[in-house]
Amino acid sequence: MGFLGKILRSNSNDGPEAEEQVGFNPNRDDCLFWYTEEGYIIAQDVTCQHEYIQDTACPTCGGELVVIAHLNRGGQGLSELVAICRDCKARTNFIFDISNDVYQEWWAEQLGPLYVRQYDGPPREPFSQDAPVLDMDADSVDEDPVEADPVEADSVGEDRTTDPRAEE
Ligand SMILES: [Zn+2]
Repeated sequence: MGFLGKILRSNSNDGPEAEEQVGFNPNRDDCLFWYTEEGYIIAQDVTCQHEYIQDTACPTCGGELVVIAHLNRGGQGLSELVAICRDCKARTNFIFDISNDVYQEWWAEQLGPLYVRQYDGPPREPFSQDAPVLDMDADSVDEDPVEADPVEADSVGEDRTTDPRAEE
């Protein structure tokens, strides 16, 4: 699906125009960009996935990331974007959860009668505001492990038992 050319570049997404952006869900809630238990990033529309990457520095050199590919993994309730760094050319994959209710309700509204739910499983729930520390040896990791979180490397290794809501 060719979303990439349709995203408006704008640094201000909270103005009134933002709601008219293609791919923007006005019903985003506070769980946007939380992590699921599996370590996927909660996406609530198409635009937010690009916003997330624009706001993320290259984990290798801190440079600016540019999206180069969007892999359709709708059958898994996932959306994967591949970005490269303008400076060091390192590649970073971002795996977003799109099985959540906020995304699916918005998506159904976008497509109307064309909407087909591609993912049979239950919607994934927001689990943590911080990137979970993934145990790659655990049985629960499927064939599709999320890379050790390159997005917020600073937060990896922090006490994962801390209730993120307590920090607010
Ligand atoms: Zn870089």
